Amino acid sequence: MSIQFQILGRPGRDNAMFVWVNSGTSFYRLLFDCGEGLLREVKQADIKAIDHLFFSHTHIDHIAGFDYFFRRNYDREGRPVYVWGPKKTAEIIHHRLLGFIWNLVDGAPGKWYVTDIDETSMTSFSFRTSEGFEKKHFEGKTDFDGPVLEAPGFKVKAAILNHIIPTVAYLVSENDSLNINKSVLLDSGLPQGAWLEKLKDFSVSEDEIISLEGTDYRLKDLRKELLIRTPGEKIAYLTDFIFDETSKERALRLIENCDTVICESQYSHLDEDLAKRNFHMTTYQTASLAKEANARRLILFHISERYGKEEDYPGLLKEARKIFPETYFPEEWEITE
Ligand SMILES: [Zn+2]
Repeated sequence: MSIQFQILGRPGRDNAMFVWVNSGTSFYRLLFDCGEGLLREVKQADIKAIDHLFFSHTHIDHIAGFDYFFRRNYDREGRPVYVWGPKKTAEIIHHRLLGFIWNLVDGAPGKWYVTDIDETSMTSFSFRTSEGFEKKHFEGKTDFDGPVLEAPGFKVKAAILNHIIPTVAYLVSENDSLNINKSVLLDSGLPQGAWLEKLKDFSVSEDEIISLEGTDYRLKDLRKELLIRTPGEKIAYLTDFIFDETSKERALRLIENCDTVICESQYSHLDEDLAKRNFHMTTYQTASLAKEANARRLILFHISERYGKEEDYPGLLKEARKIFPETYFPEEWEITE
């Protein structure tokens, strides 16, 4: 099991995040936002296999690259495309899908599911390539209080933050893995055998009795002694929001104890008034969020174009590190510290 990520886009330009989740049995590709030209950095095979596209919001710098993605996936066979975002995402995506003439798609494969994540509910719609995307099919409405997606091996949670308009922050968490503690097993003198499979299979009741070399053991006790739980990795993506009480509280709840927090930091803390005016974050605010959330590391991205990579970025990093030492820029940006 593993999670890998890549920040797309150059410093001071549109940015996004590509995530590969290897669940042990399947491989998933997730894209977070889709700014202009960003997918040119990604292999075609990866673009054509994106399972989920998560929008933080639909300001143009987060969606301007959508056509590139759409062109490569509009008639995808076998697997639908899933799109997520704040309220009105389905409406905006529908406009994009209808922005072309579709007279040669009769019987073409391709199904798109778009889910609007609102304060307390999620509403899904689907669009079919074979219909030229004309119809907006209602697929259902469910309550929203954090979790948005559960796939084999990982989950995605979300929180609604404030950017004058709502933006959605996301957390991808791998499931914890359970393994047999080999040294404890060896020391216990218990024999190897098929019974070990039952330890990890929670469809088997913990009250089941296992007989081993003439002694009866309760499965519950064997599990307690022999299983080790390794926590899954967690990665969070937060962009375009202001550091007000509600956003702060929701963001903290989402990213608590997160391994890697990818968070916008549009402004230096010296430009806090600009951050306030434009509903964005400063270095100090982003770093204190990561600190308070007990994150393992923080990656700053989505920096204002007012700052120069050579002249200003080392200073921005220093500001953040004053509060949260484990702060970095994306590796791909090659910032000299
Ligand atoms: Zn924005």
